[in-house]
Amino acid sequence: MPPRILYIAGYSRCGSTLVDMVLNSSVRIASTGELTYLHDEAAARARMCTCGAAYGDCARYGDWLAARPTGEGAMVRRVERRNALGKLLAGSVAAEDARAYRAYGQSLFRHIARQTGADIIVDSSKSARDAAGRPLALSRLAGLDVRILHLTRDPRQTVQSYVERGSNWVLEGHRAKGVLESWRPIPGWVLANRVGRCLGHEIGADRYMHLRFEDFLSDPATALRRIGAFIGADLEDTIDRVAGQHPFSAGHMVGGNRARLKPQTITPTAAAPRLPRGHALCLRLVSRPLARELGYG
Ligand SMILES: [Zn+2]
Repeated sequence: MPPRILYIAGYSRCGSTLVDMVLNSSVRIASTGELTYLHDEAAARARMCTCGAAYGDCARYGDWLAARPTGEGAMVRRVERRNALGKLLAGSVAAEDARAYRAYGQSLFRHIARQTGADIIVDSSKSARDAAGRPLALSRLAGLDVRILHLTRDPRQTVQSYVERGSNWVLEGHRAKGVLESWRPIPGWVLANRVGRCLGHEIGADRYMHLRFEDFLSDPATALRRIGAFIGADLEDTIDRVAGQHPFSAGHMVGGNRARLKPQTITPTAAAPRLPRGHALCLRLVSRPLARELGYG
């Protein structure tokens, strides 16, 4: 039987790396990070899986990657990108891509379930431009059992993180720094989280859960019990590890935040954000209605 997928939707810096690492400690769950980028990461020779191996040599992904057809990575991007979302919603994806995508999704998730013994796979590819339609594609084209965890973080904290630290992809030398780098997360946060809400409407209320990262940090036990009920897994062992300040490690995660590179514990929320005035004003204008809808006053 194919595994159940817990898909983490939302924008970058929403805390998905930490949530991924914590969930990965359950014997029933295997976290994969930003799994949508597996082909792209494997093609960029300098990139490594969090296990420390090049993707081609990784015990989890190496054999699977070696057996995949040429052009599969480009097909995945074509199907999942934000400007193809209309086709997914209308059910008008080209037949050849739909067939290839089904083969990709079924093969990848069954392979990970066999490798790990887990029956729930966490995929935190989120909802930015390149992967906005992924959970719908996995559900409708690949025929997999997908639950969406829409993870959000206060937009002021998100933008502050970019103002102070810049983009992960720039930090890791994946792309060059743009002129308006620190402004990108303002429309980025709104677009990705609008997609998250849209996905929730499409997939149905019983397959969608919204969680604020702030609530996960302040009361992880309650947040983990909600997630456990949502995916049908008992997470009490994981909750005990959180309470004992157990360090969580990444295993075999693709892409994501630099935090994945060393074991993490859960620490309280950072201090109130202090954004530059221009950023604060622009953010308020652009994000306010959605921010309120998501519980950020
Ligand atoms: Zn690995």
